[in-house]
Amino acid sequence: MGTIEPQIAAGGDVQQEPMADGFQLVIDALKLNGVDTIFGLPGIPITDLARRAQADGIRVLAFRHEQSAGYAASIAGFLTQKPGICLTVSAPGFLNGLNALAHATVNCFPMILISGSSEREIVDLQQGDYEELDQLAIARPVAKAAYRVLHAEDIGVGIARAIRAAVSGRPGGVYLDLPAKLFAQSIDAELGRKTLIKVVDAAPKQIPATEAVARVLDLLKGAQKPLIILGKGAAYAQCDSELKNLIEITGIPYLPMSMAKGLLPDTHEQCASAARSFVLPAADVVMLIGARLNWLLSHGKGKTWGGKGAKAWGGQKFVQIDISPQEADSNVRVDAPLIGDIGSCVSSLLNEMKSGWTKPPAEWINAINEKKTANVAKMSETLARNPVPMNFHSALNVVRDIVRENPEALFVNEGANALDFTRSIVDMFRPRKRIDVGTWGIMGVGMGYCVAAAAVSGEQVIAVEGDSAFGFSGMEVETICRYNLPVCIVVMNNNGVYKGTDKDPTGRDPAPTAFVKGARYDKLMEAFGGVGVQASTPAELRKAMAEAIRSKRPTLINAVIDETAGTESGRITSLNPSARKK
Ligand code: ADP
Repeated sequence: MGTIEPQIAAGGDVQQEPMADGFQLVIDALKLNGVDTIFGLPGIPITDLARRAQADGIRVLAFRHEQSAGYAASIAGFLTQKPGICLTVSAPGFLNGLNALAHATVNCFPMILISGSSEREIVDLQQGDYEELDQLAIARPVAKAAYRVLHAEDIGVGIARAIRAAVSGRPGGVYLDLPAKLFAQSIDAELGRKTLIKVVDAAPKQIPATEAVARVLDLLKGAQKPLIILGKGAAYAQCDSELKNLIEITGIPYLPMSMAKGLLPDTHEQCASAARSFVLPAADVVMLIGARLNWLLSHGKGKTWGGKGAKAWGGQKFVQIDISPQEADSNVRVDAPLIGDIGSCVSSLLNEMKSGWTKPPAEWINAINEKKTANVAKMSETLARNPVPMNFHSALNVVRDIVRENPEALFVNEGANALDFTRSIVDMFRPRKRIDVGTWGIMGVGMGYCVAAAAVSGEQVIAVEGDSAFGFSGMEVETICRYNLPVCIVVMNNNGVYKGTDKDPTGRDPAPTAFVKGARYDKLMEAFGGVGVQASTPAELRKAMAEAIRSKRPTLINAVIDETAGTESGRITSLNPSARKK
């Protein structure tokens, strides 16, 4: 542990025992718990925390905006099962990081937002401190847990509690408030060392009950048209071979949610993605593994599920494997909840199935395969077209090939049309490679995700960004260049939000959804020493992406897309009242 040098008195006598200050105790507590990276943005009062953490061997990645640092921390948590740490200054910096804290909580990613804050006494009496804000109270509603540490002796406990809260049970975002005064407090170094806690078994296994396992198997055995839905909880759980065994031994077709793509290769014969709108209403028993029946799955009811009416039940029975005992019945009845960590739940199911298992009826599998074949043929035809100017499909046909050739690359994706088309066209082949807009379908995660993905994995990163989505975090290309990360960004540039053809009916201004026409996003990357390329054809795009991956240099490709391509709100038109009216 680091210490402050003893004070030397005028006569040369040592006057004090070695002391440790708040900065040092925070750093030591983080290191003791295996934290090796901090994502943040320095400033008062945490600048020295960042400096000294770096000097002590923690990797400190500094961003241009706290929101990107926060998104980076959140996705690092998803990728590693360790809490991603985001460090911000007080009030405005804290507020900028709050979006990502909420994102982590909503997406069940473990993250700790550590923010410096101003003096409690002044904040509580509202006496007008520098950047005065009651940060703890503001963080609480969007965090899984929120703590404040006032005394140096409590730093060890504060960090231990934050880590446990972030990773145990259903993971989430945790806020840790560290007032400026705390950093300046010094205590005896030896005493300080003893107050630190190395968290033991931070995310304990949760073994499911035997009778719950039997209930699930009974339901599945009686199914004629079973279906498995894999969610990002299944990807987070890192029990990839058990999941693969479960799917292959049961023979049940499966649908991966967006960030579960690649848990098994999307080209797997049991993958039903290309027959999604057929299998959801037709299935009789659906087993959700780490996926919630939220809006992304139409709440388990309505027309998507074969219900006769917007909110009607389609008749399916549900099995739900989840770590949260409160999740079942949140939207429709869950007939067989299986509560535990996914690894333990899946292992228990496999254990009980050893006595024998009958695969689903051939009619079900054949019907799905028929739909898949027809839909894949239709899509191949669309992808093979080569219109001028390029559209989303012809550009993504290239991306699809490149991703297939580079299955270890992490793949970042955000936008509206750029998200929806990419998700269905670009296959993934390995677990936890696709990271995207998540449960809220937000914009702005892109560049933060790129930095974290490259830093955490050391692999190539490929990002497909809508031009609107890219704008939210575009300045972080400087961060990507500064750390010289192997990131290849493709901006699908169709001159606007959804598309670039909207007009202000009064003729005064550009339409609210329109951007500068013919913008050169590639020049932004060049400004910081990276590689910028303009690509107007699939051949140019292919060449630029291949070169980016070969060279590993930060690269931004401005992919010029037909400005009439794209639909309002992408695939979620039904949620947009203005598009619904049209
Ligand atoms: P998707 O958006 O991919 O459908 P969701 O975010 O809706 O996925 O669901 C993820 C679910 O996974 C959450 O309900 C969460 O409680 C659960 N979960 C996360 N980690 C684990 C785990 N290790 N074991 C079991 N369930 C988990």
